[in-house]
Amino acid sequence: MGAELESAFEIPEPPSGFYPSSFRVSTDGRTAAAAVSLVATGGRVPGAAREAERKKGQTEMPDFTKRHSKALHYSAASCRPGAGSSQAMEERKVAVVGAGQVGSTFAYALANEGVADDIAIIDVNEQLARGQVLDLAHGQPFMPPVNIHQGSPEDYADAHIIVITAGAKQKPGESRLDLLRRNAEIVGDITKDIRDRNSEAVIVVVTNPVDVLTRVVLEQSGWERHRVMGSGTVLDTARFRYLLSRHCGVDARNVHAYILGEHGDSEIAPWSLTHIAGMPMDDYCVLCGREADWRSAREQVVEQVRNSAYHIIDYKGATSYAVGLALVRICGAILRNEHSVLTVSTMLDGEYGLEDVCLSVPCLVSRRGIERIISGPLTEPEREGLAASARVLKEAWSTLRGDS
Ligand code: NAD
Repeated sequence: MGAELESAFEIPEPPSGFYPSSFRVSTDGRTAAAAVSLVATGGRVPGAAREAERKKGQTEMPDFTKRHSKALHYSAASCRPGAGSSQAMEERKVAVVGAGQVGSTFAYALANEGVADDIAIIDVNEQLARGQVLDLAHGQPFMPPVNIHQGSPEDYADAHIIVITAGAKQKPGESRLDLLRRNAEIVGDITKDIRDRNSEAVIVVVTNPVDVLTRVVLEQSGWERHRVMGSGTVLDTARFRYLLSRHCGVDARNVHAYILGEHGDSEIAPWSLTHIAGMPMDDYCVLCGREADWRSAREQVVEQVRNSAYHIIDYKGATSYAVGLALVRICGAILRNEHSVLTVSTMLDGEYGLEDVCLSVPCLVSRRGIERIISGPLTEPEREGLAASARVLKEAWSTLRGDS
């Protein structure tokens, strides 16, 4: 009886060849039918057509609504209220590569956000990916309609965003450089797969060391720099704003501040860009009568931001929630074409007097990926700090390249 009950609640495997290379799980019959139709129609723009357009010199990100319109009215989006409107026709697909702590937490947060219609979860550990998919899918009655399924590299072809969280963990006795080499290989292989599928996606690299690996993806893909970004210091910036908000007793959303440079030890906190209600932090603290306090707290706050990941990893083995939310913020900005200012990692080409290095600076993020790098004013010491961070990253890059 127990076994019968169990099998009655199991989601049946699709007949072989029915859903090519992916296992689709849906909220209900309507979503299932939508997924079937999407697959039946191909649901993808032929690679050759895309290649031809690229060759015409098109640099803008494609308009997903037009390009996919034929297949997309079958998408899970049609189960949403307002189905039938042109807005509901647009399917927003995110492929998450790596179903570990970061990938799965991100997928969970993304599904809850309601900003994606289709989430493909891909991992070399297929059991893990399958387990994460089922676990997430069982929560679908409590979240906005979304098609969550186990994916494969085939999903790169029509994804709008590919988020790479796949990576190896540091083994005992293994140096950071060894880990860098192994992750560069993993991320490089994934990039080749993406390139082979003629994907038009925007890639968001998360795997560490994120700035160096963003450059690996950029090189291997041969794509324009606006389509490849690293999650960079979006997480560090959130940590910074949180700590400042605690110090000042102000809502973190009203603290405007950025962490720039490497996502790591050489990152910098440019105080000249840190404001509350349009006031520089230093002035705000005077207003509150806490300037003495502030002077000593200032450096502690930056230290805490730099060391946050180490502390969390000591306590629980990995960081996942805040980075998951940071990734939702980045993907939301892309999918909703928000033109949001985010400190993602990008290849610099003269901005801030730096070139040939991927690091974080304020960028406008939109459907095209990085719409614009905002090369704002920094004080001289801040510029020097950013240049020092760039040197650290360039050195890591040369070491990696020297080795290969
Ligand atoms: P994890 O070990 O839990 O997950 C990594 C997953 O990648 C594993 O499930 C593994 O099977 C999978 N994987 C390995 N090779 C693969 C491949 N070729 N294709 C597909 N999947 C593959 O690790 P995690 O805690 O999720 O962290 C993932 C990465 O994210 C790490 O590099 C970590 O340092 C980084 N990270 C970055 C930030 C950031 O802000 N940039 C924050 C936190 C973690």
